[in-house]
Amino acid sequence: MNEFATIGELARGLRQGDYSSVELIRHYLARIDANSTLNTFITVAEDEALNAAASADQAFERGEAGPLTGIPLAHKDIFCTQGIATTCGSRILENWIAPYDATVVDRLAHAGAVLLGKTNMDEFAMGSSNENSYFGAALNPWDSSRVPGGSSGGSAAAVAAGLTPVATGTDTGGSIRQPAAFCGVAGIKPTYGRVSRYGMAAFASSLDQAGVFGHDAQDLAVVLSIMSGFDPRDSTSSDRADSWLTGVSESGLKPNDEGLTIGLPSEYFKDLNEGATLLQAAAKEFENAGCRLTQISLPHTDAAIPAYYIIAGAEASTNLARYDGVHFGYRCENPKSLEDLYQRSRSEGFGIEVKRRILTGTYALSVGYFDAYYLKAQKLRRLIQQDFLSAFEEVDLILAPTTPGVAFHTGDLTDDPVAMYQQDIFTIPASLAGLPALSLPCGFTGGLPIGMQLIGPHFSERRLLETSALYQQNTDWHQRHPEVA
Ligand code: GLN
Repeated sequence: MNEFATIGELARGLRQGDYSSVELIRHYLARIDANSTLNTFITVAEDEALNAAASADQAFERGEAGPLTGIPLAHKDIFCTQGIATTCGSRILENWIAPYDATVVDRLAHAGAVLLGKTNMDEFAMGSSNENSYFGAALNPWDSSRVPGGSSGGSAAAVAAGLTPVATGTDTGGSIRQPAAFCGVAGIKPTYGRVSRYGMAAFASSLDQAGVFGHDAQDLAVVLSIMSGFDPRDSTSSDRADSWLTGVSESGLKPNDEGLTIGLPSEYFKDLNEGATLLQAAAKEFENAGCRLTQISLPHTDAAIPAYYIIAGAEASTNLARYDGVHFGYRCENPKSLEDLYQRSRSEGFGIEVKRRILTGTYALSVGYFDAYYLKAQKLRRLIQQDFLSAFEEVDLILAPTTPGVAFHTGDLTDDPVAMYQQDIFTIPASLAGLPALSLPCGFTGGLPIGMQLIGPHFSERRLLETSALYQQNTDWHQRHPEVA
């Protein structure tokens, strides 16, 4: 069995009877176990997975298999899973078991997918390295002295190491694209509103969006076609036609050879540390395939990080008020009063970065500072969005680096939060604008993967994925894999 098989290949193997779903799931569970030092999973749901696989095998026998029947996947530990712990990488939710499934979890389970377990993440999705996980950081399978990126680092590293063919993630300011780039896999963050946030623990509600990691564009399309769509339980869920990817698992994505105009934003290339030549080669690849390249400008790019860290912190400070030691989650021992219970439960339950965001966010929202910080950040957000909307009058897609460099070493940035925040410079702008964006591996430097980012207009996921399919048809970066146990 190919350790890095796509779900298309696995579905074929299952249909042809090359292996049963139970055999397939046992194989992946064994790989997860053999690579446990990578710390990619917080919870491995072995019994549940084997039961679900047995049901999948019965569905095959009855001739009732759906597009994902028997296919393994992993969920970031931010999605509620009924009966299986959901920790959000935090002590405050250690051992918490959700009483219901997130819409994303529910839809994928209904399509027959088998949940292997819940992947490691920065606490409440705040971070760019996985080092903020209460359960210890996941490691990068290309070099275990380096971070896998964050916050969805466990999912990206698990896919890269072949511990699951696909995994979900969430992206508020880059948490799918940045770890995808650091781990050499593909990852897409859809348009804000495309995927339901119901049952996905909230960090910054106006930015949070669920997406998926995999090896190729086709796998992303298949999983996204199932997890996306209108959900009345999420008030910001879009009711824009749900049929945008109908049939993609049967017919396959058509590589887009329409000769698109692709914009290269000058602001994204000026600070590039590593990988500039690889990105130029990727751009050339598109040119060879008939696309037209043009320089563009996104002049407010520099405002993105400060605006994001005000807005995301402000929203986090209110969203995380619910973890009070009373309703659910960790509670301190022997509280002396109600106030003592709140104070110590939160002090003991949250990690340093989460506290930093709650404090700065509360500050930015407080009387006297609201106008100077929060309101100003919202105005900047609008300008950043306007930059993109103007650019999309000229170009079909934007090609940019995903990160300023390759995966950094564990511990390198932990003492310098601002340097850590700066890692998100190329991913945050699209998040603030609510745009769909994806990262694909486009080469290696010093044995470490580099990612390229494609950003499209709102609801242009199909075009993004088809353009990615075109690139992957002509290159083989996505077929390189790290050596793991
Ligand atoms: N690294 C960014 C942060 O720490 C983005 C995180 C995310 O997208 N969830 O907020």
